[in-house]
Amino acid sequence: MAEQDCIFSKIVKGEIPAQKVYEDEAVLAFLDINPISDGHTLVIPKQKYEKLDECPAEVLGQLASKLGKIAQAVAAATGCDGYNVLCNNGRAAGQLIDYVHFHIIPRNEGDGVFHRWPHFQYPTGKIEEIAAKIRENIK
Ligand code: AMP
Repeated sequence: MAEQDCIFSKIVKGEIPAQKVYEDEAVLAFLDINPISDGHTLVIPKQKYEKLDECPAEVLGQLASKLGKIAQAVAAATGCDGYNVLCNNGRAAGQLIDYVHFHIIPRNEGDGVFHRWPHFQYPTGKIEEIAAKIRENIK
């Protein structure tokens, strides 16, 4: 999608409204318009990258250095029992907007949103095999 058509690029440029909760020269945070819970917040870099692995380290550093501070404010404002920080990458992982973003999702005991995702045990030898492949691909 062309950058001028991207919803989050438009929010950064002030072309469409958003409930902004934090802004500096590199980072913007605003409320999700279709929240999972009250205070569900999105944190984005002001420069557009589609996925986490495309973000330069400097941009990731700027984002990461603000995530905790924003999460603390979201938690204090909503009085939630906990929160999830999620970054969906790719359609298979649920990414709908191709502009990297972190969700901060306030959670409360028994809210039924999700508790544990399905998991399994590796068959013998597979965990070592996969770890070796990932190590080979670290650039
Ligand atoms: P994802 O599925 O990780 O790509 O999440 C995209 C999120 O952006 C969804 O939770 C949407 O509700 C949210 N969203 C879409 N349009 C807007 C908008 N104009 N303002 C705020 N949040 C939005």
